[in-house]
Amino acid sequence: MIRDAGTTSGTAIRYESVTFSYEGGAEAPALERVSLDVRRGERLGILGPNGGGKSTLLKLTLGLLRGYSGTIEIEGLAPDEAAKRRLIGYVPQRVEAELSFPITARHAASMAASAGLGPFASGRGAREQADRALSMVGASSIAEKPVGTLSGGQLQRVMIARALASRAKILLLDEPTVGIDPAGQKQFAELIQRLHDELGLTTIVVSHDLRTVAATSDRVACLARTLHYHDSPEGLTPHVLAEVFRHDAAAIFGDLHVDAHRAAECSHDHSHDHGHDHGQEHGAQGNHGGGS
Ligand code: ADP
Ligand code: MG
Repeated sequence: MIRDAGTTSGTAIRYESVTFSYEGGAEAPALERVSLDVRRGERLGILGPNGGGKSTLLKLTLGLLRGYSGTIEIEGLAPDEAAKRRLIGYVPQRVEAELSFPITARHAASMAASAGLGPFASGRGAREQADRALSMVGASSIAEKPVGTLSGGQLQRVMIARALASRAKILLLDEPTVGIDPAGQKQFAELIQRLHDELGLTTIVVSHDLRTVAATSDRVACLARTLHYHDSPEGLTPHVLAEVFRHDAAAIFGDLHVDAHRAAECSHDHSHDHGHDHGQEHGAQGNHGGGS
């Protein structure tokens, strides 16, 4: 049974010691003993460097990749079963979205609506559901535009509408702010808040960008093959960040020993200018080939 979207207690997704290696991939597993409870109705951020295994974790959750060890349960169901019941809405990385949908925005949203009963379901047609979903994300005016002609922010809203038009109560968003300008990023954070408040959705935002995660999450998990940290955004100290982005830092600065005390002092001095996260962001982009 699908549980009430408004329920905000209990576990939406449970990961227990999840380990996964790609066939013919690197010797080290892409994910190693990842354990994490995603609470129903929470806004979770997963922060980590490119190649850290974020997309892999999402694809395992969606049943798109198989062959992991450990446990993944979505509302108590295995990923395949959860996918059949359309429990999860997925907003892929931008390039994948562009390639997959050479159609209009309304068509993209209504395809999902016709395949399941979304939060707006009441016996009306798929088109009406799609239009309500497009309206919810502020994309009504672009319903007739081909997906390929949309800006990054517009495309993202359409992809979110598409996820809402199915019956999803859990929304996974992979690198949602890549290619989106600062105004669009602010709108995106407001939209995530609204979906949380008005629809009671559980949202998981995956990103290498600290600001994206901080703006869209009540709780943050840091993932760099293993899980490094898992709590409120305020707990993302320079020490934690240095550890999570260690390989990015090493690629830029050489394999230096990170002094957590000096990092902490830096962050005190510049706590309002975001200076300390530029390096991580650039580092992550420098390794972009590792992303998927
Ligand atoms: P992220 O999304 O955090 O950037 P990914 O989950 O895409 O990280 O990748 C995690 C690791 O798995 C990386 O080392 C990446 O190179 C590797 N990887 C990703 N996709 C594949 C694939 N299809 N085959 C082999 N290795 C892969
Ligand atoms: Mg990725």
